[in-house]
Amino acid sequence: MLHIREPRTLKTPAGGHSLSISDITADAAELPSFDGHERVWCGRDERRGLTAIVAIHDTTLGPALGGTRIWPHESFEAAVTDALRLSRGMTYKSAVAGLPLGGGKAVIVADAKTQKTPALLTAYAEMLTALEGQFITAEDVGMTLADADFLRERAPNVVGTSKGGSGNPSPFTAEGVFLGIKKALKHRNGSARLSGIRVAVQGLGSVGWSLCEKLSREDADLIVTDLDAMRVEKARRAFGATAIAADEVVAAEAEVFAPCALGGVISQETLRSLKSGIVAGSANNQLARHEDARLLMERGVLYAPDYVINAGGLINVAAELSPLGYDPEAVMARLGKIPTVLGEIFARAEAQKRPTNDIAAEIAMERIRR
Ligand code: NAD
Repeated sequence: MLHIREPRTLKTPAGGHSLSISDITADAAELPSFDGHERVWCGRDERRGLTAIVAIHDTTLGPALGGTRIWPHESFEAAVTDALRLSRGMTYKSAVAGLPLGGGKAVIVADAKTQKTPALLTAYAEMLTALEGQFITAEDVGMTLADADFLRERAPNVVGTSKGGSGNPSPFTAEGVFLGIKKALKHRNGSARLSGIRVAVQGLGSVGWSLCEKLSREDADLIVTDLDAMRVEKARRAFGATAIAADEVVAAEAEVFAPCALGGVISQETLRSLKSGIVAGSANNQLARHEDARLLMERGVLYAPDYVINAGGLINVAAELSPLGYDPEAVMARLGKIPTVLGEIFARAEAQKRPTNDIAAEIAMERIRR
């Protein structure tokens, strides 16, 4: 259990509400995933049901931008660890995508289906306002476009909104993943053809669904799973997809495994049952441990590093912050570079006999140091 030893209340916003914001950086520093984070904030409002963590990893390249995840973590420590791992990933994602942004991420500990109330979101909006621009946020798991709009009406620094913003980032993330899968196929098979290729998609949420639409349009054979049986049924009908149990998807007989749910799906345990030669999906932190990429490589699996292939949504929301204004053509041009960068990573990894995520991290660090 992580203890907040010296909660330093930043401010309790006007309005007489019960929100308090604490700097928990020193406590978070004891966690293995800390990795030199600049700042970690915790916002609590018991009355309105808010426990939120905002992790700011690195702002060398620009202000910290990252989504807000709403998820019922089993403990506070698990939530802080999730925020730290995701926020670090954002630093690398922005760096590899060539964006002038740093890495940050927020986690709200709540069940998005039953506990995401207007009161909770209002308390979170007050927290974002109180952080005075240290963190710019957008959608992630558990947060919808409507939620982003709701927050934007109450707080600055919310991107990916429908009112005056660039809208839902998920289709752009899915487009990047789609292009990335084709790049991986081309690298592996010499052809990017999807027709007849079996792709196992884990998670039929905003990104997973949009990815299925794109794959299905090019006649890929879809194998799908989700914890939500309704989504699976819908995918069966819409795409003629084959359903598979959630705990069997890693072992699905497919050429490509596309994790589009939560992180940690590839671990020492699950790796053994993996049948696909390519792992390429949208989920953040797909590997339980960084070292698992080496195990994948040794098994001959081509892994598209998650923060490289899933940068499309970030590229789209970041375009809102451009001094030149949002330019859809510039977004598509930058998105088109995702497969190019992946191609470079695959080639370098093969030539140097190193895991692809080591090469991706090297590219990110080169840019940050420069
Ligand atoms: P979402 O909340 O819309 O969808 C997630 C889906 O995964 C849900 O349908 C959920 O039921 C399902 N799910 C959760 N655990 C599962 C399990 N064990 N097995 C099967 N299904 C499971 O989220 P999203 O926006 O589609 O994001 C999906 C992933 O992609 C997340 O890891 C997210 O961080 C990452 N990502 C999203 C974006 C974006 O633009 N939305 C950008 C970059 C990365």
